Amino acid sequence: MTDTASAVSAWIEDRADQMAQLLMRLVAIDTENPPGRGLPECAAVLVEAMAQLDLNSEMHEVSDAGDGRTGCIVTGGCGTGEDLIYLHGHFDVVPAQRRAQFEPRRTGGRIVGRGTADMKGGLVSMLYGAAAAHELGLLEERRIVLHFVCDEETGSTLGGGTLRARNMIDPDAVAMLTTEPTGGVVWHANRGAITAKITVEGREAHVGLRHLGDNAFEHLIAIAGPLTEFADELLTEPTNLQVGGVDAPGSMMVVGGALGAGSNFNVVPGSAWFSVDWRFNPERTLETELTRLRRRIDDAARDASAHVTVEWLQQQPAAMTPADDPRAIELAACIRNVEGDSPQFELCPGVLDTRWYAQLGVPAFAYGGGRLEVSHGPDEYIDEAAMRRCAVVCASFAAGAYR
Ligand SMILES: [Zn+2]
Repeated sequence: MTDTASAVSAWIEDRADQMAQLLMRLVAIDTENPPGRGLPECAAVLVEAMAQLDLNSEMHEVSDAGDGRTGCIVTGGCGTGEDLIYLHGHFDVVPAQRRAQFEPRRTGGRIVGRGTADMKGGLVSMLYGAAAAHELGLLEERRIVLHFVCDEETGSTLGGGTLRARNMIDPDAVAMLTTEPTGGVVWHANRGAITAKITVEGREAHVGLRHLGDNAFEHLIAIAGPLTEFADELLTEPTNLQVGGVDAPGSMMVVGGALGAGSNFNVVPGSAWFSVDWRFNPERTLETELTRLRRRIDDAARDASAHVTVEWLQQQPAAMTPADDPRAIELAACIRNVEGDSPQFELCPGVLDTRWYAQLGVPAFAYGGGRLEVSHGPDEYIDEAAMRRCAVVCASFAAGAYR
């Protein structure tokens, strides 16, 4: 380790207990999303922690005019330098498998509980990383802005979307880092997302008068069939980016993940619907993929002589920062210095908040101390030492220690 990283590491190690206590306090607040519980309470703890660490902080209430959802964003930071680094995270968690997951346990060097890996442990890494860089005087040229959002697990249009809509993301920023549970790799890209609800029309009739009806479910089968074949074709359209472990390089579509039809078993269904959910590769644009899907749906409907309506539930572009971007090289150097090895750069299997920044041209990366394979599961945990090492990476990256 270099002198800077050693100094940061010593500062962080001195605060190992404080970090563990803060994480346990955050995990004990149930912020399940959906439905989006406990968000102001959790945000208040983050604000309090930021004040104790001598970081600026501000709470913003946010609401979605479209669906009436409300939430909050915590922003803050430190440093007076010209160059801006964003540290970004979310404090909502996916629903727990059992209530005991909100009673965090500290055992064998780990903290166990919902959200420890994804990503309240990451928030603690960023808070202490920022505070270390600030207190050790490493932020002469750079400054850190923290963005903590409330709805990443449900698409982040309220949190990330508000940051974007209110011009709170500076396109001239040097870089953005989010400490999602990447398990040692860096995610520098994520797939785009298109979700559609396709409703097929028919005409109701009692089973005894079946010949007078028009069965919407039969039309659904005729339309869903070709779309399923399309989904199979997409699997053979690989990305050129590196994918991790069990991931496949194809463009991923699920047909019929949710569906429904009719009013009762003894009535010819007058309408039927099914979902299509597509995570397309970063080499493709949202516009080209929307056009392709729309054409496939229209062709299938025409062949089936059916009338369909399409409701677009989600349209998110993919995002990517090249692995040879200067900031990617800088981040890799920070990680190598702390962990001993250079990290792999991979495509994230899900959607990431990096996209809100990357879309504006800000180099954006995910790297965190938690492990993806335990995130969202019943035995979620984070290794305390990994959480602390991630804090050292955050501080070194934010300070520009390896330019
Ligand atoms: Zn997450």
